[in-house]
Amino acid sequence: MLRTHTCGELRIQHVGQKVTLSGWVRAIRDKGHLLWIDLRDRYGITQLLIEEGKAPEALLKVARTLGREFVVQASGTVIERASKNDKIPTGDIEVAVDSLKVLNASDVPPFLIEDETDGGEDLRMKYRYLDLRRDIMRRRLELRHRAARATREYLDARQFIEVETPVLIKSTPEGARDFVVPSRLHPGQFYALPQSPQTFKQILMVAGFDRYYQIVKCFRDEDLRADRQPEFTQIDCEMSFVEQEDILQMFEGLVKHIFKSVKGIELDDFPRMSYDEAMRLYGSDKPDIRFGMTFVELNHLAKGKGFQVFDNSELVVGICAPGCANYTRKQLDELTDFVRRPQIGAKGLVYVKYQEDGSFKSSVDKFFSQDDLKQWAEAMGAQAGDLLLILAGEADKTRKQLCELRLEMGNRLGLRPENVYRPLWVIDFPLLEWDEETQRYYAMHHPFTSPKPEDIPLLDSEPGKVRANAYDMVINGVEVGGGSIRIHDQALQKKMFQILGFSEEEAEAQFGFLMNAFRYGAPPHGGIAFGFDRLCALMGGSESIRDFIAFPKNTSGRDVMIESPSPIAPEQLEELGLCLKNPR
Ligand code: ASP
Repeated sequence: MLRTHTCGELRIQHVGQKVTLSGWVRAIRDKGHLLWIDLRDRYGITQLLIEEGKAPEALLKVARTLGREFVVQASGTVIERASKNDKIPTGDIEVAVDSLKVLNASDVPPFLIEDETDGGEDLRMKYRYLDLRRDIMRRRLELRHRAARATREYLDARQFIEVETPVLIKSTPEGARDFVVPSRLHPGQFYALPQSPQTFKQILMVAGFDRYYQIVKCFRDEDLRADRQPEFTQIDCEMSFVEQEDILQMFEGLVKHIFKSVKGIELDDFPRMSYDEAMRLYGSDKPDIRFGMTFVELNHLAKGKGFQVFDNSELVVGICAPGCANYTRKQLDELTDFVRRPQIGAKGLVYVKYQEDGSFKSSVDKFFSQDDLKQWAEAMGAQAGDLLLILAGEADKTRKQLCELRLEMGNRLGLRPENVYRPLWVIDFPLLEWDEETQRYYAMHHPFTSPKPEDIPLLDSEPGKVRANAYDMVINGVEVGGGSIRIHDQALQKKMFQILGFSEEEAEAQFGFLMNAFRYGAPPHGGIAFGFDRLCALMGGSESIRDFIAFPKNTSGRDVMIESPSPIAPEQLEELGLCLKNPR
């Protein structure tokens, strides 16, 4: 081995030992007769000392040729430091070097390899190997590793088996666009990369595997956002002979175990909230319940008083921001601008200040008496000193807008602390979602999700009212996982395809294999999948899942290190039976 110890290992009790370390030069401090080198590897940093007169002359010469990120091997004796550094675990000692070898030189790195780097995202992505050399990035990938290990530990102890499913498959209709791969052997035909192993895991249940999981890459050709990547990783799970309750228990346990192992945090039992309640109180199916400020509907108090905006609205709804009655004109304008941004799209914002003296001051004083406003304040549980923020308009849209405003207020008031985790289950999702544009129903989760048995009679009469045995796990406003009890009955599955507008032939062509499988003894089954990258980012306190993926794509879907996607040679195109009519 090229070392006896790592750069994170030596302590005061090693003083006097002869050691050899190998690593990267993080920094050099040359004081003339004394020269220090910070040597870094994955495990830490150790200070090397070269002292004029004590170390051989040639050694000092070699040391003076070193640059940042050179790879060196140094041997010497561990000594106690004169001035200790209590910021690093090896800070009590240094190594008095008596031999030094350059294992490899390095160009000057294009950015600082420190937690606080001067490298922008693009540069860091292009030189990802240097970025990953930074402590902070290494710690993130270590967190990811520990989360994966904890997952396997938990599931393995409960008889789950990890089965790999294929990457070259055909489309699974889960809402997003597929990435496709042309087949050379079958010109004009394509594989698709899986958006999830959904149908395969169900087929594994038919095959009798009973408990399956896989930490698996999935691919979706969607527009990118900070928390999306074209390829991402799921913890994908499926179980047989279970009901919704069994799944909720099992996977609440998994996430508790992961948090305990990775963060040392014991999560409380997860509360459950129906989809309807989540929408009504938070305007979102992924509510951040770290703080309250829940919605209060004011239709009965606010309509019919001559204020047209409210009178013409389907919904008048507000939140009470505690202690914000002293907001200035400027702050209120900021909030109004916030809700008016095109991404949010509210027309305006009504405020009511519940002043310390018990009186009210509002942006709608012309239309509402002090008494009216008092009633609103009471309905909203407001105290003197609070600020009521109210939006009105079409119900669904207004709820979404108020959801954004609530989160903004949560941020402003510091009610969304990073290290507090408040998970919950959102349950009882609608089975179907009506799409105005295409005038048809879409599966809210996916077409294999089972309706609640008691709602099956509504399938023909009022499909929009049918609830599904589907559930999402939400933590701090982030959907970390979702799944459902599946349809395992061939006839019901057929009916579902019919409701979703598939002709019998289309259903057969796309899902014949699954319906066939259902003819041979499909057990009742259900499952869930977690967004692994997101879960890691959440535990690591980062907004961006890119920070937790070793080699992510950038915001426009490119890998700038390997320069992909990239054109391919005309011969390759031809071989694949692909001729670009209008090559760009
Ligand atoms: N396949 C689903 C998804 O990727 C999860 C599941 O239903 O298990 O969202």
